[in-house]
Amino acid sequence: MATTTPAAAPQSAPKYPDQVTGMWILARALENMGIKNVYGLVGIPITEAAYLVQGQGIRFVGFRHEQQAGMAAATEGYLTKTPGVLMTVSSLGFMNGLTATANATVNCYPMIQISGATDPTMVDMKMGTYEEMDQLNTAKPLVKAAFRCSKAEDIPSAVARAYRAAVSGRPGGVYIDMTTPALGQIMNRADAEKLLYQPVDIYSPVAPNEASVDRAVETIQSAKRPAILLGKGAAYAQVDDKIKTLVEKYNIPYLPMSMAKGLMPDAGPLSALSCRSTIMEKADVVIVIGARLNWMLSFGKGKWNPAIKFVQLDVDPEEMDVNVPIAAPVVGDMGESLDAILGKLDVSKMSIDPSWVPSLQAETKEKDAKFQERLTANKNAMPMDHWTALGAIKPIIESNPDIILINEGANTLDDTRDAVNMSLPRHRVDCATWAIMGMGMGSAIGAAVATGKKVVAIEGDSAFGFSGMDFSTICRFKLPVTVVIFNNGGIYNGIGEPMDKTSDPAPTTLDIHARYDKLGDAFGAQTYYVQTPSELSQALNEAIASGKPCLIDVQLGADSGKESGHIGYLNPAPLQDITV
Ligand code: ADP
Ligand code: MG
Repeated sequence: MATTTPAAAPQSAPKYPDQVTGMWILARALENMGIKNVYGLVGIPITEAAYLVQGQGIRFVGFRHEQQAGMAAATEGYLTKTPGVLMTVSSLGFMNGLTATANATVNCYPMIQISGATDPTMVDMKMGTYEEMDQLNTAKPLVKAAFRCSKAEDIPSAVARAYRAAVSGRPGGVYIDMTTPALGQIMNRADAEKLLYQPVDIYSPVAPNEASVDRAVETIQSAKRPAILLGKGAAYAQVDDKIKTLVEKYNIPYLPMSMAKGLMPDAGPLSALSCRSTIMEKADVVIVIGARLNWMLSFGKGKWNPAIKFVQLDVDPEEMDVNVPIAAPVVGDMGESLDAILGKLDVSKMSIDPSWVPSLQAETKEKDAKFQERLTANKNAMPMDHWTALGAIKPIIESNPDIILINEGANTLDDTRDAVNMSLPRHRVDCATWAIMGMGMGSAIGAAVATGKKVVAIEGDSAFGFSGMDFSTICRFKLPVTVVIFNNGGIYNGIGEPMDKTSDPAPTTLDIHARYDKLGDAFGAQTYYVQTPSELSQALNEAIASGKPCLIDVQLGADSGKESGHIGYLNPAPLQDITV
């Protein structure tokens, strides 16, 4: 490298200043679109492209696994409403990254995966070239849009169109097949510059039609026991003030889905967070804002009041009537739809039963007191269980509301979601719609890089295992991330018994005595091993205050946690019923 470069000619001086490659055009196109961060993992054929990305002043965050780089890009997309960008190598790197891009599409997070790809003319003829794979067609069913650049001239247009596709309408993942011929193509610099352009009105928010707004307004005004259901689409849309107006001016209680927690304060006077079943059973009109009536909401039937009327606000018309007929569908961008509804809704025409809100408040008070007892019942517990550990964590996170909370696991996810109140929008990122494991380190990195805020990731030991190596990326980039691992020694818990034909560990068994803190030591993090609630409080306070990469290994009992957490009912057969 530098050793052979004469001192008089700086290494950065280009040999052919009038010429550029497709790789340079890619880096310029990303910069031209305002991309601030690219997440990826380099190798043939994108290594130089990543250096050139840095050369454009874009932060390149290099990972240990593409899936985590993709989770980071997706998280940036969700938190900022601009597409996160993932760069991968061909074949397996592409596939590893595609997992995250598909997950982003399902969750409506805007992101763009740009993958190096071998010459498509050779792929099409199955000539057995290096890392040969039909990536474009593999990606297509899993993303919102897919493009292939076979020529360097196509790159600026592909990047701009990918950006528009990712953020407009229902957001999602977009794929660009960046072929080796396009990346390596040499062009005249001035000609390349001319290809760059600023797309106009890239978000193109659509307004709902007036008849649908009138129908929604009438339905809301007729409600005796209304409620608002907030989903992560509502949080994503960044229309916090409009939602606050709808709640507070019209006195409508709200129930947040897990990633909408904090959009309105979880502990606010109109929060119905603790009254989920009551809302389902008793509400007569529910305004669904940026949420889907999917498995997490019993598909809008069963437990729900059979006479319920749903008003649903969503940008995607195909989301209407998916599982139940929607009484008042409002199709449009969230901001436009809320403005239109708020413009017509008349406080004096609301028909809310005066006992509705007070009854929910009374129920909340009673349930919260019971819950608090559970969290603090065993302050000196050793070993701790999930609840006692969360009893220590809850007040610390709640008194640092600007911390972004990343959360995954089974019991660790369910119990943390229930225990820790959020009070600011877009401060919680979790396993989301697919309820996947393996988003933790990537999402923590994406959140820290995209926002500059402190991040705490609360991870089950199994969940951490999927992405644990990328804790090293947190350390390499010196990010203010604290990773808290709840070690109960297994998937669900650490007391699984193997079938009696084997001396191998049970399928659910992991490592109850593992010292995850030592893994953090390997990368120079500030680390802790804690066994009691007071040790945990002290460690977490110190870690957050340090603003450095920290890892806290929380020793739980192996018997803490139950199979599949709160969704054990989705198992085809309970574990105890399995026969050989
Ligand atoms: P949750 O899991 O919290 O219920 P979902 O991801 O299931 O949330 O639903 C989010 C919904 O929000 C999707 O149907 C999506 O189309 C919608 N959405 C996302 N962004 C917007 C927006 N800007 N305007 C309107 N709807 C949006
Ligand atoms: Mg576990």
